[in-house]
Amino acid sequence: MPYTPVLSGNAGDLFDTAERRWHTVLEARPDLSPAIALQRRLLTIVADLGQAFEHGRLPRLSLPPKYLAAKLSRGVPALAGEPIPLPVPVLQPPFLRLCEALAEGGAGEMATRIQEAVQKGEIGVGSLLGACLARNQAAVRHVASHLGLAPDLLWLVAELAVGPFVHILQRALFDPAIHEVLHSALQGWNRGYCPACGSWPALAEVAGGHRTLRCAFCASAWEMTMYACIYCAESGERFVTAAPTEERKDRRVEVCSACGGYLKTIDLPDLSPFPLLSISDIETTDLDVAAMEHGYVRPPLKDFSVKA
Ligand SMILES: [Zn+2]
Ligand SMILES: [Zn+2]
Repeated sequence: MPYTPVLSGNAGDLFDTAERRWHTVLEARPDLSPAIALQRRLLTIVADLGQAFEHGRLPRLSLPPKYLAAKLSRGVPALAGEPIPLPVPVLQPPFLRLCEALAEGGAGEMATRIQEAVQKGEIGVGSLLGACLARNQAAVRHVASHLGLAPDLLWLVAELAVGPFVHILQRALFDPAIHEVLHSALQGWNRGYCPACGSWPALAEVAGGHRTLRCAFCASAWEMTMYACIYCAESGERFVTAAPTEERKDRRVEVCSACGGYLKTIDLPDLSPFPLLSISDIETTDLDVAAMEHGYVRPPLKDFSVKA
């Protein structure tokens, strides 16, 4: 089942699950306490926004299923290159609250500057979030350098703010009740990047024996039919899966010396619902460190601006 729909569940269950997982992480890694305090605050804002979309009207896009299926069959993600109207009035207040939470949670002045740039009208939230949704990191960096803002932080706030919208968008587009042609194109998706937005996965969650890739941006869940490097498809001896800690075989890193990329892989009872995927990410930061210490990296976003 290459594409797997993952529902969000209700807000109460979501937070019970989140608290349980944070508690487990903190038992093993008390040093992550400040990072988790900040994550709790950010996820509360993101989840509230997600619930608003969950119970609101789904965005309607005029993207015919046959057209999307043809794109997918060429390896082009569904949303790539599409003009998507954003509900800016709904997204701007959470954007500002995210800046506030980050400012108080350690990013300080750098986050406050972003908040002020929006309040003064130096940045248009619509165009910023549009660039982020289009996965155009260069455009966001350009804005940041023009205004003297921290580029990675600006990208992070934009991703957090528009994430719930793109998550609901991919679920609406790839609804299991969709047209047969699109359904089979999705089932045939065998790429390392997200079929909805084109981002690389944050990590792979292995639930029920399925190595499910989880999009770092829209939280899509999909599986590849072969066990190989998700970046370059290497499956020979240059592709290695290793558990950095002998007694924790449930937490692994896939590393590839053909392309230099790495992917974190963890065993879980269930796939993380949106937006709890970032908890899987924070509880595996030691795996990032282990991979990066050996010179492996996560490659930059793929560029789909020239359509195949
Ligand atoms: Zn995605
Ligand atoms: Zn590779």
